[in-house]
Amino acid sequence: MNKSQNTIPVGDEIFRLVYESPASLPGRNKWLTRDADVRKIEELLGMPTDTIGAPLWVSGDRKRCAECRRETNWLDIVSSALEHVHSREMIARVILGEQKFVNTEAPRAIADLKCFQCKAAINNLRSFKCHNWAYAMPAMLKVLQHMNKA
Ligand SMILES: [Zn+2]
Repeated sequence: MNKSQNTIPVGDEIFRLVYESPASLPGRNKWLTRDADVRKIEELLGMPTDTIGAPLWVSGDRKRCAECRRETNWLDIVSSALEHVHSREMIARVILGEQKFVNTEAPRAIADLKCFQCKAAINNLRSFKCHNWAYAMPAMLKVLQHMNKA
């Protein structure tokens, strides 16, 4: 079984509902991945700085790691995913690509999620959202070519 079985591709219509209304995300809090961490994600994925221009939303009942108080965001998701099944390319495609993912099951759906800072298990995230980066296709291809060479 695939660990990300609860993360399913969704159609434009459903995605737009979530995309346009962060208020509809599950959980008590909704917040954006801070810029400094987006830059770290680019670094982890071997991307040039500022490749990711879209806001990376997360939502959950608690914003912070219970152990070290780091604000949980996409950096934790990406760094955790890199330790498991996903390749850098797969993650780059998810972040930059046309495919949209909405996590449908909470709160255990995001499996094996660990804090980027202290590696404690994170179980408070309810959803994470990738955005359709409309102008990204040529940029993405470039990034993927670059990454394949790395
Ligand atoms: Zn932590």
